Amino acid sequence: MNLTFYGAARTVTGSQHLLEVNGRRILLDCGLYQGSRDESNERNRHLPFDAASVDTLILSHAHIDHSGNIPNLVKNGFRGDIITTSATRDLCSVMLRDSAKIQEQDIEYLNKRRLREEQPPPEPLYTMADALASLKQFVGINYERPYQVAPGLTLTLYDAGHVLGSALVVLDVADDDHGRPARVVFTGDLGRAKRPILNDPVFLERADVLIMESTYGDREHPNDVDTDHLLEDIIRDTIKQGGKVIVPAFAVGRTQELVYRLNNLVERRDLPSNLQVYVDSPLAIDATAVFRAHPEAYDSEMAEVLNTDRDHDPLGFAMMRYTRSPEESKELNFLRQPAVIISASGMAETGRILHHLKNNIEDPRSTILITGFQAANTLGRRLVEGNKRVKIFGEDYDVRARVLSLNGLSGHADRSELLAWAGHIQPRPRQTFLVHGEPDAAFALADSLRGQLGFGSVHVPEMGQRFSL
Ligand SMILES: [Zn+2]
Repeated sequence: MNLTFYGAARTVTGSQHLLEVNGRRILLDCGLYQGSRDESNERNRHLPFDAASVDTLILSHAHIDHSGNIPNLVKNGFRGDIITTSATRDLCSVMLRDSAKIQEQDIEYLNKRRLREEQPPPEPLYTMADALASLKQFVGINYERPYQVAPGLTLTLYDAGHVLGSALVVLDVADDDHGRPARVVFTGDLGRAKRPILNDPVFLERADVLIMESTYGDREHPNDVDTDHLLEDIIRDTIKQGGKVIVPAFAVGRTQELVYRLNNLVERRDLPSNLQVYVDSPLAIDATAVFRAHPEAYDSEMAEVLNTDRDHDPLGFAMMRYTRSPEESKELNFLRQPAVIISASGMAETGRILHHLKNNIEDPRSTILITGFQAANTLGRRLVEGNKRVKIFGEDYDVRARVLSLNGLSGHADRSELLAWAGHIQPRPRQTFLVHGEPDAAFALADSLRGQLGFGSVHVPEMGQRFSL
């Protein structure tokens, strides 16, 4: 068995790992790398392996940094199955088409400039047709239903509790190179216990080889009760001043959790019932429909809400508006009264959120609320770091609005939660690889796994590094 890390190595995007076992080439995730424009373009366009030589793709979850390069893989000749949960398949149907549209629009914009400079026009990374073609290769399975990928190779997906459909990938190899059974576990992104909507992550007791995420390997999240109180306080304060709360949020997962929490706060009368909330993201609207279609993935609390009152919608309330058309979105620019506006992208790099930031960032009454991990070189990161002047659409703006972070909304396990999860594995894995974390976080987690849990061999692989297992 060999394992090569082609992405999310010492960084948090571009998840892509190639496992070679019993003559098969199995790709774990095929995500988009997100960073500076040129580097992203270079990395995403040129796959570091022959796409046609990959037999099977196993997808941990739908987030674009794990799934977003699938259409390009198919465009380059991959013809195998893409195996994932049914919910992830349905989310990908929405997200990969959305991503294709963005790729096409980006190139259109770029080409206008290149045409003027008389340079040859580049092609989009992939098109809508490529995204649609890739959807034909998906095979949706359910959690905890073993599935034979190849003779002697069984896949079982367990709930990772990170986003709707997210899975822990467990591959059981009947005979490895040494004639022994071996279990390879890939966490994808590991979620957190006691979160709204979703089930808790499943604990696994066996793993010979463990590939584990490490986003928050060096940090702890605040507790959940504080998170609701903080959310309430931030909204109340901003409303009182007559400002708006602008929330860049991932369209899939974070947005639905925010709406669910706001719905609860309004129902408990902790927030006024006339609170105006707008979800301004067509992708979030489509993703919310997929959430509604997959009650099998809900925790008992959400299931009970749905079962006891069929008219009650925990993903929407009276004063909540989902805005889909560009016209509706533009109308929000002229909104006079206080409101909460949730929009994508989550790291404030692209999308409608940029218009809302542009319109509110210089208003000291308003609040920009950051709700997730912000990767290096993104506008979200620059705001979190307290920059007083930022560029939006190429123009400079003074940051006069309050910028606050609500880390308790993270969909990723924090340091203690990662260690608690790994601590269930007995005996300890023969080899552990930490991915999906910036170097500080990954190395800190490696130290804790060795020091506190007695893990033996723990690696923080570099991009392109290959290991024999
Ligand atoms: Zn994720």
